[in-house]
Amino acid sequence: MHTELRDHIDARSAEAPLPGCRFCAAPLRRTFVDLGMSPLCESYVPAERLGDMEPFYPLHARICESCLLVQLEEFVAPEDIFTEYAYFSSYSDSWVAHARAYVEMAVERFGIGPDSLVVEVASNDGYLLQHVVERGIPAVGIEPAANVAVAAREKGIETVVEFFGRELAARLVAGGRRADLLAANNVMAHVPDLNDFVGGMEPLLAPQGVVTIEVPHLLRLVEDNQFDTIYHEHFSYFSFLTARKVLAAHGLEVFDVDELATHGGSLRLYAQRRSSGRRPVGPKVEALAERERALGFDTLEGHDGFSARVEETKWRLLEFLIQCRRDGRRVAGYGAPGKGNTLLNYCGIRTDLLEFTVDRNPYKQGQFLPGTHIPIRHPEALEQARPDFILILPWNLKDEIVAQLSYAREWGARCVVPIPEVEVL
Ligand SMILES: [Zn+2]
Repeated sequence: MHTELRDHIDARSAEAPLPGCRFCAAPLRRTFVDLGMSPLCESYVPAERLGDMEPFYPLHARICESCLLVQLEEFVAPEDIFTEYAYFSSYSDSWVAHARAYVEMAVERFGIGPDSLVVEVASNDGYLLQHVVERGIPAVGIEPAANVAVAAREKGIETVVEFFGRELAARLVAGGRRADLLAANNVMAHVPDLNDFVGGMEPLLAPQGVVTIEVPHLLRLVEDNQFDTIYHEHFSYFSFLTARKVLAAHGLEVFDVDELATHGGSLRLYAQRRSSGRRPVGPKVEALAERERALGFDTLEGHDGFSARVEETKWRLLEFLIQCRRDGRRVAGYGAPGKGNTLLNYCGIRTDLLEFTVDRNPYKQGQFLPGTHIPIRHPEALEQARPDFILILPWNLKDEIVAQLSYAREWGARCVVPIPEVEVL
C-alpha cells in the first residue's frame, strides 16, 4: 500500500516536474517574488482585438537554491517575443546618448580602430553601432527582430537577423570574423538559453578581445524595490556574483565592472578570455563582490523579504490613485514601457484609475496596454486632457521625462513616480 502510494506521488512529480535552473539545472523550489498572472508586456492590443482573449502567464520569480540565480520560467519562446519587437532604442534620447558615451569610452580604452571589428549582440535599430560606423570602424550587428534590423541597415550597419549563440558564433568565426570588442547590452537577462548565449562569446572574441555586458543589477532591483522590471521577457536577474559565476563557467574572466544608472541600476561587466586575456583584474571587481556578500547576496536568506515590500508598494500606489479619484483629480500616464505593464497588471489598475497613457513611439500609439487595456495616445493628448497628475511609468527616465513635460506645469500638473514608492515630484 505504502509502496503504491509513493509510486503514485513519484509518477505525478514526473508528469509535472519542477522547472530547472537555466544555468545549473537544479530544481527551482524557492520563490523570490510571485507577481501573479500577467500578459506578455510587449503584446500591445490593437483596437480591433480588444474583445479577444489574451494569454496570461505566471510572473513568478524563483531563486535557485544551488547557484542563487533569480529567474523566471520560460513560458513563451523568444521567437514569439523578439522577432517583431516594438522597442526601438533610438526613441529614447538618453539611451542614444548613453550608447555614444559607451562607444567613446570603449574605443579609447581598448584601442579600437579601423583595423578592429566591433560586434554587438541585440543591436536593435543601430542606436549604438551608428557611433562605431561613424568613426570608420567595421561593425556587425546581431538582431533577431527583423523590423528593427531594417532600421539599422538603413543607417548602413551590417546586421545579421538571428539569435546569438554558440552556433552563430562558430559561423562568424568560420567566416573570418573575430570581435576585438563584443558588446552585449541589455540582452543577457533576456535569453532563455543562457548557457548557449554566453557560450558563444568566448569563441567569437579575438585572443585579446574584450566583451562588455550590461545587465540590470539585482542589488538595485532589491534595494530600490524595482519589482516592475520583472516581466516574462526578462528571464534572469543577476547579482554581480551570479553573473561572474556564469561567465566563468564559459571561459570568461571579469576584469572590471562599472555600476551604471541605466535601467534603474545596471552593471557593465568587462571580461576577457581566461586563456589568453592579459588585462589585470581591477580593484572594483573584488570590492563589489565583497559588498554583495556583506548584503547577503551570497546566501538564500539574503534574498528574503522582498515579497512583503512589493505588496506594500502596490497598496500605497492604489491608495494614491483611489484618493485622486475621490478628490475629483484626473490621472494620466506617461510612457508605455514593459515595466509599466507589470506594475499596472500586478496592481489591477484600469482606466478608472489611469485614464490613458502617452508614448512617443508611433508603433504604440492608438493601441492599448496588454491586460489593462489602458489606451496609448500621442503625447499631445496630455495638453488636450490637462490631467492633474502624470504617472511616469518609465521611472528610470524620469529626469528626461520631467524635462519634456515642463509645459504641463502651465495647467498645474504634477509628475508622479510609482517606484520605489509612490512619490509626487
Ligand atoms: Zn542554478
